[in-house]
Amino acid sequence: MTLLVDSFQRRVTYLRLSVTDRCDLRCVYCMNEDMQFLPRQAVLSLEELARIARVFVSLGVKKIRLTGGEPLVRQNLSWLVRELAALPGLQELAMTSNGMRLAAVANELRDAGLNRLNISVDSLRPERFRAITRVGELDRVLAGLAAARAAGFSRIKLNSVILRGRNDDEVGDLVAFAAEQGCDISFIEEMPLGVISEHDRAGAFVPSDEILSRLQQRFSLVPSTESTSGPSRYHRLAGGDTRVGFISPHSHNFCASCNRVRVTVEGRLLLCLGNEHSLDLRHLMREERLDDEALRAAIVQAMNLKPERHQFDLQEAPQIVRFMNMTGG
Ligand code: SAM
Ligand code: SF4
Repeated sequence: MTLLVDSFQRRVTYLRLSVTDRCDLRCVYCMNEDMQFLPRQAVLSLEELARIARVFVSLGVKKIRLTGGEPLVRQNLSWLVRELAALPGLQELAMTSNGMRLAAVANELRDAGLNRLNISVDSLRPERFRAITRVGELDRVLAGLAAARAAGFSRIKLNSVILRGRNDDEVGDLVAFAAEQGCDISFIEEMPLGVISEHDRAGAFVPSDEILSRLQQRFSLVPSTESTSGPSRYHRLAGGDTRVGFISPHSHNFCASCNRVRVTVEGRLLLCLGNEHSLDLRHLMREERLDDEALRAAIVQAMNLKPERHQFDLQEAPQIVRFMNMTGG
């Protein structure tokens, strides 16, 4: 039973916890090529991250996803995974990664108790993958995926952000690849978080329904009523168990069923991806020195700040100046 209920009666049971703002890639929709990352003292320690997770789980959070930035650039991540996996009441511990460093640590993460993985891959063509990520190596991501499967991660989900003129003609190949690998896949509409100089978000926008029509020309897709309590709307590939999801912040608003909050690696509790309402947990822990009970009360209170919905408009200058890597995507 969660104690986290907002003023629209939505129950919060899912925490996305960012473990770093840093990344070894520079995806064009996520960040600028030249990035200034946070100074070390601004970043929560692993112990502080573990404490926040513990407090949220004690309030009824059932699922935590580690994200960033790229979680695997954070040193000693396995320690954090082990601490979180041991929290009584936590049912699912997941991570979203770009896969570049996964091959070396997949076994270790699995042993530490990570039970779900999302891997982001926007193209299966090395030169395109490089262009979208600016510096990425597709081979390494594919090796990461293979290692994760070998380590026993099941139903890995691939995430692809689809951009017009860059990878929109590849959606069929991405689904075929997901099916061959025994993975699910979600297609994500780009969100306007931060201004990126050389990337035209409005021009690159591809609505989910267009992707779905394209896929229907090649595959038989059965709409699915199942939900993971997330923003994805799912279809299933006929004759198989591959799920194809669509995360459509523009074309199909999902705020009414939102069950999640985010904590940035600076300790900002963000109540909504598309709004700035937040609570500074780092200040409460470091300066105010709140004990767990007082921290719990502050978090319960902060649920009233959760706004009803996000307002994204690709034609306007972004209202949200933080990039996705700062948000904990
Ligand atoms: N670095 C990891 C990765 O790429 O999987 C985890 C963090 S990343 C911010 C999480 C997800 O957000 C990725 O699937 C990425 O493609 C997606 N993403 C980043 N910027 C986005 C944007 N502006 N709009 C939509 N999705 C975005
Ligand atoms: Fe890094 Fe993930 Fe952002 Fe790409 S989407 S730059 S991999 S944080």
